[in-house]
Amino acid sequence: MVLNMTQIFKFKNDIDANTLKQLEKQECLAIDTEGSGLQIPHRDKLSLVQFSTGNNDAYIVQPNRENYSAPNIVKILENDKITKIGHYLRYDVSGLEYFLKCNVKNIFDTKIASKLCRTYSQNHGLKDLVFEFCGKKLDKRLGSSDWNKNLDELTDAQLQYCSNDVIFLHKIKDELYKMLVRENRLVLYESCIKFLKTRIKLDQGGFTEDIFQH
Ligand code: MN
Repeated sequence: MVLNMTQIFKFKNDIDANTLKQLEKQECLAIDTEGSGLQIPHRDKLSLVQFSTGNNDAYIVQPNRENYSAPNIVKILENDKITKIGHYLRYDVSGLEYFLKCNVKNIFDTKIASKLCRTYSQNHGLKDLVFEFCGKKLDKRLGSSDWNKNLDELTDAQLQYCSNDVIFLHKIKDELYKMLVRENRLVLYESCIKFLKTRIKLDQGGFTEDIFQH
């Protein structure tokens, strides 16, 4: 897939004060993270944090893995006025809260929304939603790659890959939101989002199974 127009901005440790100001003007920001693996936080660590304003741009931050000090990112995450859109935030919010020591507020999870309103489909991957709502075919092959390389050593393909995980989320959220309203599942969706932090605490405490199951 060719997406040559994405504007990519790279940051070491944290976004700068000017970028923070720009991002704070947004009502909605798409977020995603890359880690050294899927077992966050005990085995794997947070490697990258990506944001998008929805205008085909990506802000890619490599936090300092010695101290994970990123006060400007935390300001965005804790800002209740900015909706953070993400796909499967059970993973990203867990890593962000654990490593950046913050409380992520005001989230919209496109995977949970999709499972509640797209009951006609078994496929709720980001790839499936990008295809259905944006008509684009995402190449997910670089998903499992070494995100711990120095920021300057990440290839253009890797940078485009981790940008693709945020640039479509605004459009997807708008479509899913309309469907949740249409299917009368918005209240149920909101209850699920309220439970997400508890689900994450269970994950971090080692209760990874579904405790509601018989
Ligand atoms: Mn990603």
